[in-house]
Amino acid sequence: MRTNLLKLFVFFFIFLASFQSLLAFNDKPRDRFVVVLDAGHGGKDPGNMGNGFKEKEIALSIILKIGKALERKGGIEVIYTRDSDVFIPLDQRAKIANEANADLFVSVHCNSHNSQAYGTETFVLGLHKTQENFEVAKKENSVIFLEEDYEVTYDGFNPNSPESYIGMALMQEEYLNQSILLADFVQKNFTNDLKRKNRGVKQAGFVVLKMAVMPSVLIETGFLTNDHEGPYLNSTSGQNKMAAAVVEAIDKYANSINLSSLEDIGQVSASSADIQSQVYKDITFKIQLAAGSKRLETKSYNFKGLQNVERSREDGLYKYYYGATSDYAKITKLHSEAKQTGYPSSYIVAFKDGSKITVNEALKTE
Ligand SMILES: [Zn+2]
Repeated sequence: MRTNLLKLFVFFFIFLASFQSLLAFNDKPRDRFVVVLDAGHGGKDPGNMGNGFKEKEIALSIILKIGKALERKGGIEVIYTRDSDVFIPLDQRAKIANEANADLFVSVHCNSHNSQAYGTETFVLGLHKTQENFEVAKKENSVIFLEEDYEVTYDGFNPNSPESYIGMALMQEEYLNQSILLADFVQKNFTNDLKRKNRGVKQAGFVVLKMAVMPSVLIETGFLTNDHEGPYLNSTSGQNKMAAAVVEAIDKYANSINLSSLEDIGQVSASSADIQSQVYKDITFKIQLAAGSKRLETKSYNFKGLQNVERSREDGLYKYYYGATSDYAKITKLHSEAKQTGYPSSYIVAFKDGSKITVNEALKTE
């Protein structure tokens, strides 16, 4: 009898605890969008010193400009992993983001090479496809050697050993689709607005991205070792421009995600319900279900029963789209179905004349 009572108590407490964690999970109000801004390196770790410039200083300067602009915009809460010249271990950076329950993690760096290579690239977590991408990750991860006990902290991870990277790719698969959404916006702004050379959206195993449990990107803003790009990134005007491009990308990303949660609470579909359809004649809306380096057959058994999935190869990644229509009401309906089917991180994308534009831009057309 007493053991039964004890069991009942234990059961009750487990129930209470899980109920509370459920509440805590839903605690975050929808209007709060938190971005963690991470300036690479700092303190005893200068990063690369191409052409005599300091990566740690340039990264910090760009990050602070991004943060100030986002705060001015309002609606987005900004948290910095560092806002001064201090050394922060990689795991601490991710921890700051995880504890803040952030919606997005954005790390800013500068590249280096022993050639006159130049251009920008934005990384999401994954297995590198080329030695070149692996070299970037190796270089950025090697800062853990400056930490005491790095073997313990990173569970035997060795930045220089290719074996250490196997399996890492799967860790962020859940956030990959959304990480790519932001990475695309960033690269597009750099290329279209600033005419920087586009080296693309890439995948590689960055420790800091692996440990952050949210959509995350690492931006290589350019090569300090390049005789033109180095001085550009070190200049106030160059930094202002790079920061503005990233701010606009984060803003577009937040809008896309918010649009998606508005659908969830019926604010978007409610208005479309009585109109039946909302056709934007020059636009094709699709749902991006998933993205990754793996080429999947577009059979329904690979996509939880969804039919007519199409595959497209962009920037070396495969993207999988579902539903193609000019009707925004129809695509939001398909989107809620896709989310219920098991694609909670899917989102709506819009195409005009074959090129991708933001959904907000699409909704402003006729
Ligand atoms: Zn770096």
